[in-house]
Amino acid sequence: GNLDVNVPVQSKDEYGKVIRTFNDMTLRLREAEDARRHLVADVAHELRTPLSIIQLKLENAQQSSQTASPEMLLRLHDEVIRLSLLVDDLHVLSLAEAGRLSLDFKPLDLTAKLEQIVDDVKMEAEENGLEIQLSSGTGPVTVIADARRIAQVFINLLTNAIRYTPPGGRISVVVEDKVAERDQTYACVSIIDTGVGIPEEELPRLFDRFYRVEKARSRHTGGTGLGLTIAHQLMKAHGGFIRVASRLDQGSAFTVYLPVQSLDDK
Ligand code: ADP
Repeated sequence: GNLDVNVPVQSKDEYGKVIRTFNDMTLRLREAEDARRHLVADVAHELRTPLSIIQLKLENAQQSSQTASPEMLLRLHDEVIRLSLLVDDLHVLSLAEAGRLSLDFKPLDLTAKLEQIVDDVKMEAEENGLEIQLSSGTGPVTVIADARRIAQVFINLLTNAIRYTPPGGRISVVVEDKVAERDQTYACVSIIDTGVGIPEEELPRLFDRFYRVEKARSRHTGGTGLGLTIAHQLMKAHGGFIRVASRLDQGSAFTVYLPVQSLDDK
């Protein structure tokens, strides 16, 4: 449809108000339409590379009379896995961006959840020569959240910490109760690594979809470039947010803020 409608406003009365509202809505529709067009273009671009690799490998196999080698099948399988991870991520992201993600809000003990998640990733961290450690106060830190979605946020951040920290490094997970910020009380979880870090000028775009600090470096690390975008959207859906502090060649700290309801809110 044509969204380039803008009705000139002459009158200052009710009629003028209606026209201004109409113009406002048109603008917002156009912005949504632009965003949608960009997403489709980005997705097409991201799907292109793995699909080209698969296509090329299959064509080569067809042309040579030999049967497919195990290595080639492994490469093909990797690319297919990559494609399906990308599609899964896009699904969550599109639901979140449309505000259609259904969240199952329940009381959740962050400390217990993180103990479990850190346990799950410990082996992968150790295989990469990294030490991982959780520190929290005594007692539970309770928030109202969707346990599965929150776990996804932490897993995305921890996977990045593991990916972008060279062997010999260290990852610390710190849980804090009752951090006051912007007139609200939050429970905070920080994931701190001693990795490659992020240049300051890259920080503002870090949560954009498909954004990677160094395209070549990141591609072979196997991510989809959507992990942080999804983490950001999931936190927003929880009324929370994520902050990042980083220094090149020294490390990064991602802090997740989740609102805690004070007793008088209930
Ligand atoms: P990816 O799938 O590429 O990891 P993300 O959205 O999770 O995508 O992260 C976007 C980019 O931010 C990464 O490609 C990487 O360049 C940078 N990044 C994320 N986390 C870290 C970290 N802990 N240390 C250094 N760089 C990071």
